Amino acid sequence: MHTNQSKQTDKALLDLILLGHVNETAVSIVAANLQAIMGLNTDIRPVLDKPDYAYVPGRNQFDAAKIIKTLCSITDGAPLKLGLIESDLCSPILTFVYGESQLGGKAALVSLHRLSAEDPAVTYQRIAKISLHEVGHLLGIKHCWKTTCLMKHSSDLEPLDSLSLYFCSACEYEIKRHLETLINRDI
Ligand SMILES: [Zn+2]
Ligand SMILES: [Zn+2]
Repeated sequence: MHTNQSKQTDKALLDLILLGHVNETAVSIVAANLQAIMGLNTDIRPVLDKPDYAYVPGRNQFDAAKIIKTLCSITDGAPLKLGLIESDLCSPILTFVYGESQLGGKAALVSLHRLSAEDPAVTYQRIAKISLHEVGHLLGIKHCWKTTCLMKHSSDLEPLDSLSLYFCSACEYEIKRHLETLINRDI
């Protein structure tokens, strides 16, 4: 029914979960971009403690997979979770990660640690791009070969900065399709 449908799309599909203190402007910018570019409504949840359980002492980093596992165990709220953290993240095989995501899963994570630029506008743009990319993976989208698409893999800041805040039309179509499935499943 029409009224029901428009009501459902207002509902938050993703919870932003802050792990320790996270720059407030960055959080607002991530929420605004998820809404504007993916049409994804978000809720900002109360701040959680810094994830000491995932701390890797020798590296002064946090294990991204362990944090994602904890985010997955949160059963209330929106069906998707995006964790934001200011500390540096790693995985067992990579010296650092900007973010990590479960492909077609429930939870993703983004670190602000390595995204600082002299110009704060560039910093916020990087945070928005990584967040959109990781949420794209959450919606089941794999890496894209098109050089201008947000789903292109960026191993460094230089290729990240060269991207625009857009998904290519093929990825955009897939994102819409997966979001619709999610909305219908959640009714
Ligand atoms: Zn990726
Ligand atoms: Zn694409």
